Amino acid sequence: MKMLYKIRGFISILVFFLSLFISGSQAYGANTIYDIRTGDQPDGVRLVIDGSNEFKYDAFLLDNPNRLVIDVKDAKIPDKFNVSKNHIIEDVRFGDLNNGGKRIVFVLKKNANIKKKFTLEPSGEQKKWRLVVDLNVGGESISPVVSQSKVVAQNTGYDKKNVSVVKTKKVVVLDPGHGGKDPGAIGRSFKTYEKTLTLAMGKELKRHLEARGYKVYLTRTTDIFIPLRRRVQIARSYHADLFISIHADSTVNRKAQGFSIYTLSETASDKEAEALAERENKADIIDGMDFSDNSPEINDVLISLSQNDCRNKSSKFATYVVNEVRRNVKLVNNAHKFAGFAVLKAPDVPSVLLEMGYLSNYTEEKQLRQPQYRSKLAQYMAKAVDRYFSDPEIVI
Ligand SMILES: [Zn+2]
Repeated sequence: MKMLYKIRGFISILVFFLSLFISGSQAYGANTIYDIRTGDQPDGVRLVIDGSNEFKYDAFLLDNPNRLVIDVKDAKIPDKFNVSKNHIIEDVRFGDLNNGGKRIVFVLKKNANIKKKFTLEPSGEQKKWRLVVDLNVGGESISPVVSQSKVVAQNTGYDKKNVSVVKTKKVVVLDPGHGGKDPGAIGRSFKTYEKTLTLAMGKELKRHLEARGYKVYLTRTTDIFIPLRRRVQIARSYHADLFISIHADSTVNRKAQGFSIYTLSETASDKEAEALAERENKADIIDGMDFSDNSPEINDVLISLSQNDCRNKSSKFATYVVNEVRRNVKLVNNAHKFAGFAVLKAPDVPSVLLEMGYLSNYTEEKQLRQPQYRSKLAQYMAKAVDRYFSDPEIVI
C-alpha cells in the first residue's frame, strides 16, 4: 500500500509540474489566475492580478454599491482564493461569464475612479502576466447602513468566507396583476377578466423560466387581492434579481392593439402611458383604502440612492424583451415606455410591467385567451430573461 501512495504522490507531483509547464508555455487556453494583491497608494489602491497568459479583459465601475468589475476572458480561478481586504476593498466575489471567462467583483467601501489600467508581460524573474488597475479614491463614501444592506442583497448565494462561487439560481418574481375584488380590465368581446389572464400567464411563464433553471416565485397563485406595495415587498423579500408585473390593457379605441413594456420613470413618456399608470395604480384605492402612500421601504432617499443602476438594468431587460417579442407579436409604437407605476418602485430590484395586449380589441382578447398563445409569449419572455442574465453588464 505504501508503495502505491508513493507512486500516486509521484504522479501527482509530475502532473503538477506538467500543468505548470503547459500553462506557462501556452499562448492560448485558460488564463489561470494565481494571485490577486492589493496595495495602498497615497490617493487610492493598486490591484495586481497574476495570470498564466496575456490578459484579455474589461474593467469598469458600477455604483450602488460601488464596485470594480474585471471581466477576464478564458480564465480559470482556483476554488479557494483569498484576497486581502483593506480600507477600500470590502469584499471580493467571483462569477462565471458565459464565454468561459471569469468576473471578479471588488465591492468598494468608497466611491472610486479607475486611474490607470494596464498589463505587464513576463520579464526576467517575473514569469507571470500581470494586470494592474489603479483606483483613485475620491468623493463621498456611501453611508454604512445603506451599503451594508445593499451588499447583503447582492451577496445572495455567495459564500463570503471562501470567496468562491456557489452555483446559484437567479430569482425571478412574477406578479400577476390585479386579483380578488379587483378584476382589472374586462374584455369587450368575451368579457375576459384581466386578473384571470395575468394569473394564467404568470403560471405559464413560471414553467418556462423554471425549465431554464431560474428560481421563480409568484406574488399570487390564486384569485386574491394584493395591494401594490405588498407586491413590491414580496419581490424584495425573495431577493429578486428581476421582477415582472403582468397585465393586459383596455381602451375606448377598439382598434388599439399591441404588446408594450414599461419601466419606472417619474415623468411618463406620453399621455397614454401616464393614463395607464394612473389606471393600474388605482388598484390600491379600489376598496376606499389608499395603500399607495410611500412606505418606509420605498422612501425617496432610498429610491434616489439606488434607482439609477436599477433603472438601467430594468431598461436593458425591457430592450431584450422588445427584441424577442417583436419578431412574432404585434407591438405598440415605441413598445418600451416609461411611467410611474407603483408596482415598479422597488429601489433595488430591476422591474418591468408588461401589457400583453388590449382586451378592448377583439383579436387580442381572443389570442390572450388561448393557452398556446400565452405559451409562445412566455417562451419569448423566457428567452429575453436568458439574454438579460447573460449580459456581462448585469453584475452578479
Ligand atoms: Zn392591469
